[in-house]
Amino acid sequence: MRARDLLCPRPEGLYCPPGDFFIDPVRPVARALITHGHSDHARAGHGAVLATRETLDIMGLRYGEDFAGSTQAAALGETIMLDGVAVTFHPAGHVLGSAQIAVERDGLRIVASGDYKRTPDATCAPFEVVPCDVFITEATFALPVFRHPPPQEEIARLLKSVAQFPERTHLVGAYALGKAQRVMKLLRGAGYDKPIHVHGALSKISDYYRQRGVDLGELEPATVETGTKREFAGAVVIGPPAAFSDRWARRFPDPIACFASGWMRIRQRAKQRGVELPLIISDHCDWDELCATITETGASEVWGTHGREEALVRWCELQGIAARPLHLVGYEDEGD
Ligand SMILES: [Zn+2]
Repeated sequence: MRARDLLCPRPEGLYCPPGDFFIDPVRPVARALITHGHSDHARAGHGAVLATRETLDIMGLRYGEDFAGSTQAAALGETIMLDGVAVTFHPAGHVLGSAQIAVERDGLRIVASGDYKRTPDATCAPFEVVPCDVFITEATFALPVFRHPPPQEEIARLLKSVAQFPERTHLVGAYALGKAQRVMKLLRGAGYDKPIHVHGALSKISDYYRQRGVDLGELEPATVETGTKREFAGAVVIGPPAAFSDRWARRFPDPIACFASGWMRIRQRAKQRGVELPLIISDHCDWDELCATITETGASEVWGTHGREEALVRWCELQGIAARPLHLVGYEDEGD
């Protein structure tokens, strides 16, 4: 069996003809396998959805319980047969519940890794290397300029600034699913034990993380009803990046705008967004992690998706690995 007969790009997303299913389709389909809960990968309106328990729960929180016709939870490591195609979910280390999906038939194994990272993250299961013939990799930060520093160093810079400016509020922009909880957990890991104030848009997902056993310490709502301006002096407030331009952000005393994202490596991006304290914390692989992972899977062929595939394709070719970009459209990760 040729790899392209097992998985191929379609306008709806990556399609498996013999198994008649899509992986992370961007349009409604009859049968969808979903790698993780970020909105560009996990959409509402499919007939049947197969995903990890956490991803199904997160989709339910975001879209309502009737987000799909039917759902089935896939346990990590459990092989499920779909019309003669074996599919197995393996942890991806990206956000809570995130998985790579191994698709196998007639001895040919393709791993669709979704979004993933290799840096340890105490809020989700670590990435597992799955040996395969074809490895489908994201390419969000696939340029040698992207090298993420240890996240602990970035959090140390944040806490240094908090100590330095006790009258000001540190407003940390972080995506609602994954990044926000990771920043909270990193703060706790660095010994920060004061309440962390959170924007309402983050509370449901953060509560769900706690339900699943991720201890985030004391969280308080960052709302005007519950606090006066003075109360937020010296506080750390976490909110979705979109909230920073609205009235919500102006209620805090002399705020310092921080933003936790892999894109903060690019100084110009931070400047454009008015970010005073950029924190390079990413839920995606950096260049070195991408290259190392491709090598570790032992794949003889690599397909790149959503991002800067060209550089990665070129790197693979130099290593003697066949590679091509998939040109899938519709993926703009909400959790970079
Ligand atoms: Zn993602």
